[in-house]
Amino acid sequence: MKKLVSIVIPAYNEADNVFVIAESIKSVFSTLNYNYEIILVDDGSADHTLEKIRAYAATTNNVFFLEFSKNFGHQLAVKAGMDHAYGDCVISMDCDMQHPPELIPDMLKKWEEGFEVVYTIRAEDKNLSKGKRSSSSLFYKTLNWLSDIELEPGAADFRLLDQKVVNVFRNFHENEPFLRGLVKWLGFKQIAIHYNPAARFSGKSKYTFKKMVNLALHGVTSFSIKPLYTAVYLGFILSMASVLYVPYIIYAFANNVEVSGWASVIMTIVFFGGLQLIILGIIGIYVGKMFMQSKNRPNYIIRSTNIPVR
Ligand code: UDP
Ligand code: MG
Repeated sequence: MKKLVSIVIPAYNEADNVFVIAESIKSVFSTLNYNYEIILVDDGSADHTLEKIRAYAATTNNVFFLEFSKNFGHQLAVKAGMDHAYGDCVISMDCDMQHPPELIPDMLKKWEEGFEVVYTIRAEDKNLSKGKRSSSSLFYKTLNWLSDIELEPGAADFRLLDQKVVNVFRNFHENEPFLRGLVKWLGFKQIAIHYNPAARFSGKSKYTFKKMVNLALHGVTSFSIKPLYTAVYLGFILSMASVLYVPYIIYAFANNVEVSGWASVIMTIVFFGGLQLIILGIIGIYVGKMFMQSKNRPNYIIRSTNIPVR
């Protein structure tokens, strides 16, 4: 019996890419001794992505789709695909050809060697704008500094997971999973392989700067409570620093020195007002996360699928 490889592809407004990626995966597997299935997750696309997927799925028996009831985001789309994949291993990759399907044979080779997680690191991309490159490097630096997991820059959601790992993931019900971090956190036998990313085939990136910042904030707050400790230490340091001011005040009183300084007082008030708001906000993020998770809603909703009940 040939082993089954499931390929999970989240797609949000990728009408022009669906056919291309499916065909290139097909040609990669034509040289390999595996069965494969493609699971395309339509993440509430506003264009003709779903029609394209349906049309393609109708022509073959190993292409499946999950249609979300609305846009739930990249991470949940990948999660949904994994939840419905029954391959001996599952490979997740983007729809836009930035994750080269030619890497699949190398990933499978590592898997056959016994690795349970094969993740990929993209080499510095000359095609990316300088802004995107430096924001991504800043993203990882902040993330690693603030959280308790070590993530490598350039790690994307292009990875192979053994069925064992996927089964573990099925029991995860985080409403905002941060897969990159979770996979690292899980353990298992992991290995990285490097690749050169290609340019997006068609359409444009859905990750705006705002989304990147959100992902970073989310990445940190869903993995560690270090920011809360940082607030405590900062508070300590500032209180201690204020004590240093006491001798000067005593001196000023004793010598009847007139202390001027409304500008500095206003500045200090505004500065610390801001600082307190930031720290309150950090606490708020954690409370908000607890609130969202405590409602126990389904993480994503599937409107339609052609996956047979297995
Ligand atoms: N994607 C998704 N839902 C979203 C945003 C993106 O399913 O809300 C998919 C998208 O179709 C693509 C992958 O996630 O397959 C990565 O998105 P994109 O290429 O826009 O991100 P980038 O490569 O620029 O980081
Ligand atoms: Mg992309």
